[in-house]
Amino acid sequence: MQSAKCKVQNEKSITPLINAAKRAASRAYAPYSRFRVGAALRTRSGKVFTGCNVENASYGLTICAERAAVFAAVAAGEREFERIVIFTPTQSFTGPCGACRQVMAEFAPNLRVVLVNKTGETRSYSLKRLLPVQFRKPGRYSTSR
Ligand SMILES: [Zn+2]
Repeated sequence: MQSAKCKVQNEKSITPLINAAKRAASRAYAPYSRFRVGAALRTRSGKVFTGCNVENASYGLTICAERAAVFAAVAAGEREFERIVIFTPTQSFTGPCGACRQVMAEFAPNLRVVLVNKTGETRSYSLKRLLPVQFRKPGRYSTSR
């Protein structure tokens, strides 16, 4: 169990990520759903990559904020991620879709996933909890599985 001090430190360190996710959501291209999502992904090296949902008239081509953030990080040479913050301007919390969970699991099976609602409340999960049986190409499983 975390001490109160640790909790405060975590809250402090997460504020820049929440702000980055909110900024990304404001840039979402969502003319069809009008549902804006922003994600901020922090790498182990401390860099932050953001993504927003980008919709398309051909709906299936739409990409989610989470995958946009992961792909931007990978394109910049980063593959080790410690935390992703997902913001939606709604009262309810919005978890990542199944496709995004699988994409995140490719690089960070134990990623910390923090959901933020419009009032700034947070819910925190391990990706293993959100996607307990992650698909892996045979041979990539660790011996502990
Ligand atoms: Zn998604």
